[in-house]
Amino acid sequence: MGKNDKRLIVKNGNVFDSLTGKIKKNTTIVISGKQIVWVGDDGSFEKEKNDQVIKAEGKTILPGLVESHVHLASTCSAQSERVEMRTKTTMWHYIALNNAQKHLASGFTCVRDCGASPGWIPSLRRILDMGVFAGPRLVVADNGVAQWGNQEMIGPQYVIDYYKNIGEVKAGVDGVIHAVRQRKSAGADFIKTLTTGGVLHGMESKLGTSLFLDEELEAMVKEAERIGMHVASHAHGLEGIYKAVKAGIHTIEHGSFLDEETADLMVKKDSFLVPTQMALAGLLSDEILQQLPPEVQIKTKETGIAQKKAHKIAFERGVKIAVGTDAGTPGNFHGTTGTEIKYMVENVGMTPAQALQAATIVGAKCVHLDDKIGVIEKGKMADIVISNKNPLEDISVVENPKNFSHVIKDGKIMVEKGVITYFSP
Ligand SMILES: [Zn+2]
Repeated sequence: MGKNDKRLIVKNGNVFDSLTGKIKKNTTIVISGKQIVWVGDDGSFEKEKNDQVIKAEGKTILPGLVESHVHLASTCSAQSERVEMRTKTTMWHYIALNNAQKHLASGFTCVRDCGASPGWIPSLRRILDMGVFAGPRLVVADNGVAQWGNQEMIGPQYVIDYYKNIGEVKAGVDGVIHAVRQRKSAGADFIKTLTTGGVLHGMESKLGTSLFLDEELEAMVKEAERIGMHVASHAHGLEGIYKAVKAGIHTIEHGSFLDEETADLMVKKDSFLVPTQMALAGLLSDEILQQLPPEVQIKTKETGIAQKKAHKIAFERGVKIAVGTDAGTPGNFHGTTGTEIKYMVENVGMTPAQALQAATIVGAKCVHLDDKIGVIEKGKMADIVISNKNPLEDISVVENPKNFSHVIKDGKIMVEKGVITYFSP
């Protein structure tokens, strides 16, 4: 930081301590450059001449929120193939930027992107890290590591090519190792894979059976970890969840049909669950559901019922649960992750404090950034949300970005009352 840089002070607020789930009253935070350099009782704060001060008396101060599962370059439409046809590749970059900003504007200063076409999101991450645009800290998968053979690909060639682009891999242990290294060189921070079919993939795409051989999954985890990456697996059905956890996969996405035994294994293996309740809520909304093929409607309803039970089981057995929506899927809009936090209370059975922990410290661990974010303490990056109302008293406060007077990322005020106010100097 240069001699003339002002310190930014968040003065005398009620800080949510994500480690204990409790509020520390009358606390002042000092930010210098991108980092928090001091946190303490307001009474012992020493003001300096050039300090820029945000008065936070009576306000609740949260660590920047963490969204652990989105697709920034996806349409949120039930007619994604039609949208695809009308969108040039280069247009997607701007759409992804806009979506990233919607997350930031709603208080989410860190977002994990779980898959897009090759090269798109690693480039966006670099641009945002450079401070060219306001946007969240991104953790990116690049395109997924998938496999073929789950179902017959039907549709025009451009649609088949599009899906191949999202995740193609050579088979076998060597093929998987090659794919992991290829993602690393493409700029991925972690590996996204799929160990079961998807809800939207049609009736032939089975949710119940595991898509990879055990030795392929084990090789994927081993190679990813060797080069500093974690693995996240899309997994709805029980077998695919169980095998992913057994192979050491770090995070389970969706976890729709998991049972007690699998939950216990997740606790033992220290793996995380990202429930993505918003994805099913979006699909089950009247407007979207009627646009889906009849067989997918059946699959969606069954999965919706199973999920509510499964996520509760996971929470009750002590599985670590992070907040992520899968935003980008039909009817699941970017910038609405506050509702997923509310669902943690309403559907999963968390207290408001536990739900906020899921969106801060647990999320930071889930995306492997807990050395930098997730808690307000000296030495951490200055990612902070200042809320006019207390979400511990009413969790729905986090659904409305207008409740947040300021969103600070990397020590810069980027959003005020839900509107982006940061522009690159
Ligand atoms: Zn996803």
